[in-house]
Amino acid sequence: MKIQMVDLTRQYHELKEEIDIAVGNVLESGQFILGPDVKRLEGELAEYVGVKHAIACANGTDALQIALMALGVGPGDEVITTPFTFVSTAEVAALLGARVVFADICEGTFNIDTNDVRRKINARTKAIVPVHLYGLPADMDELMEISSSTGIPIVEDSAQAFGAEYHGKKVCSFGKIGCVSFFPSKNLGAYGDAGMVFTDDDVLDVKLRAIAVHGAEKKYYHDYVGVNSRLDTIQAAILRVKSKHLDRYNKLRSHFAKMYTEQLKDVVTTPETPADRKHIFHQYTIRTERRDDLLNYLKAAGIPSAIYYPVPLHLQKAYQNLGYKHGDFPVAEKLSTDVLSLPMHPHLKEEEVEFVASRIREFCGRK
Ligand SMILES: *Cc1c(COP(=O)(O)O)cnc(C)c1O
Repeated sequence: MKIQMVDLTRQYHELKEEIDIAVGNVLESGQFILGPDVKRLEGELAEYVGVKHAIACANGTDALQIALMALGVGPGDEVITTPFTFVSTAEVAALLGARVVFADICEGTFNIDTNDVRRKINARTKAIVPVHLYGLPADMDELMEISSSTGIPIVEDSAQAFGAEYHGKKVCSFGKIGCVSFFPSKNLGAYGDAGMVFTDDDVLDVKLRAIAVHGAEKKYYHDYVGVNSRLDTIQAAILRVKSKHLDRYNKLRSHFAKMYTEQLKDVVTTPETPADRKHIFHQYTIRTERRDDLLNYLKAAGIPSAIYYPVPLHLQKAYQNLGYKHGDFPVAEKLSTDVLSLPMHPHLKEEEVEFVASRIREFCGRK
């Protein structure tokens, strides 16, 4: 049994006919950057999320950077985010010359602690960037309350949560701007890099769209200092095929997550899903104090697993200039030693989930 963390080959074989036709059409068209497929993808995904505008770009990191640029984030500003995330979230704020301010996370949901966010707000706070980690929406009611009472915009990092819902509403439709990555292993993945920005704001839409193409609303007339972050037409065509299967795939992930939880809840800490949220299980992440031993045990049994994330961002070398130290974010630090993500993708087989669960039970000395 060859179990993969993510199995993109099985997925390609399932969709091969549709994908090959879509890619072939782009090759025949001779248009490889932006174009009608990108426009259609933007329209389809804006409708899916339930917002007015979607702006395609080159990757999820750029989506976050373009969002912060459109909000005017720069030197002297502070951006509040979580230290327990992929580096992009903090990186883009740092690149723009802003100060990254971390707020700790909640133990149960791995998402930003809104009480700590409130403590970190000051006159320099220019944006708050929650991350819907592992596919579970952050506490958007609280965050939107903070945003409306302070006027500070929220940028949702939904890179891991496209299709997830909070109170029946899709992520990326709450904050001023929502950002998604279509990195191949994300729940909706391209066959290369791709990303998207969402907003309901007509003025921001124009600005975001311009920033992504060198700051020009009209070609060769540059209103802003922008970036080169266009989406390839081939990726858009592939995403248009795959997006039709996203909800079905997310349901399959949920099904496998339920199986894992049933079989593991008495031996390790299994993920919580608050009743008001739809988790799309980009990762299925358990917690155990014997995490490193378990990882090695699974490895010896031929089972892959992964640590997201082994070092919280405030302890990373590149961010030492922020002046944070060990003990500043105790929850993030504790979780970085306890978390382990198990194989999770829509093309798992029930036998594979059972096999992984049985090896974990064996490790824990249970039948
Ligand atoms: C994947 C990811 C990103 C970055 O997306 P890319 O498309 O790889 O640039 C940003 N934030 C989070 C939380 C991610 O998981």
